Amino acid sequence: MKTEFSLAQLADPDIAEADKILRACVHCGFCTATCPTYVLLGDELDSPRGRIYLIKEMLEKDRPPTQAVVKHIDRCLSCLACMTTCPSGVNYMHLVDQARVRIERDYRRPLTERLLRWVLAQVLPDPKLFRASMRLARFARPFAALLPAPKTPSATPSLLRRIKAMLALAPAGLPAPGPLAGSVFAAQGQRRGRVALLQGCAQQVLAPRINQAAINVLTRHGIEVVLVKDEQCCGALTHHMGRDGDALQLARANVTAWMAEAGSGGLDAILVTTSGCGTVIKDYGYMLREDRDFAGSAAKVSALAKDISEYLARLEIAPQAGPHGEVVVAYHSACSLQHGQKITQAPKDLLSKSGFVVKDVPESHLCCGSAGTYNLLQPDIATRLRDRKLANIASVKPDMIAAGNIGCMMQIAGGTSVPVVHTIELLDWATGGPRPGSN
Ligand code: SF4
Ligand code: SF4
Repeated sequence: MKTEFSLAQLADPDIAEADKILRACVHCGFCTATCPTYVLLGDELDSPRGRIYLIKEMLEKDRPPTQAVVKHIDRCLSCLACMTTCPSGVNYMHLVDQARVRIERDYRRPLTERLLRWVLAQVLPDPKLFRASMRLARFARPFAALLPAPKTPSATPSLLRRIKAMLALAPAGLPAPGPLAGSVFAAQGQRRGRVALLQGCAQQVLAPRINQAAINVLTRHGIEVVLVKDEQCCGALTHHMGRDGDALQLARANVTAWMAEAGSGGLDAILVTTSGCGTVIKDYGYMLREDRDFAGSAAKVSALAKDISEYLARLEIAPQAGPHGEVVVAYHSACSLQHGQKITQAPKDLLSKSGFVVKDVPESHLCCGSAGTYNLLQPDIATRLRDRKLANIASVKPDMIAAGNIGCMMQIAGGTSVPVVHTIELLDWATGGPRPGSN
């Protein structure tokens, strides 16, 4: 694609990067076929190619984003299916991230929208605030039914519709908190490695059982696990909202904490059980590339970051013979894992080797609609995607659904009675841990 940035514009490293990305696009349109919003809405401007044109126009003209640009960028899930499909290697992720930062900086959203986004940016990355908000939501849940439901799904939902969606996603109860930051879990038998395990923010409140299962599997296989004390939220949620100042501050704090741990106790890897977080941590090196004080250590952190399935695939885990009988598992491939990190086979291989009957879900490239804060901000598109995902999952008649991302798990569980578990919970069960849901 031909671009027309001035030399002065190209002196800005972000614009130079955008120029490189835009020039790689040959506008072939292959990406439209796998874009969930284009598949649903059929509007070219809700396709990757359409959004690329909108971003190009906005950056080249160096104008504040228009309402139309904001609408179509807001509808993008950042699922990155387009990057998997693109034959030219267009890095849509870095382009749309830049567009979101521009929108956040230069576009004045209506007051209620600004307030809502501010609240989400404060609450979601802070486990204490998030826990308190979930408790409040529990009391407000019965009133959700009184809020108006749209007659037809809207791609520009009202504030009340979004509040209704948030209340619907809030769980009826919360589990007891998991292990404290600073805890170290010794390896059983001879120590084969030492890893940090990302504690997450929403996940540690909603499902501490996931990291407990990871700790069980890792220590059982000779890996010492540390929950690093000064670790923060990874910044993914604020990053995807274009609040780059907040996200980079969190990234710097994490780089500092993990490098200090690597320097004292040593770390073979930083393991992540929430693939949405993993994709962003693996991008810290890029996000902080212009920061002289952090660029080097951020690149090291990105190299150390591994999804739990990626790490276990190299570890030769030892399933015990048939603790679970024949269990059919529909494997839901989270976008952040399959498109963001290109990890597609490892989780399925681990499950198969552990004795589960693993079924691929039809249209597995399409997002379930969770996508960070997307199901809160765009509930109608998110619900349509979820229902499509549920129909595809139902077609393989599973006993359980496995995924590697808490956001997807919550989204899918909201529409099915089939148990939705994390892949690591099944691996824990297969290697001597409890059956998921029994503890
Ligand atoms: S597939 Fe790639 S090159 Fe083709 S239009 Fe989409 S982003 Fe551009
Ligand atoms: S990230 Fe997903 S929703 Fe956004 S343009 Fe690409 S395929 Fe479409």
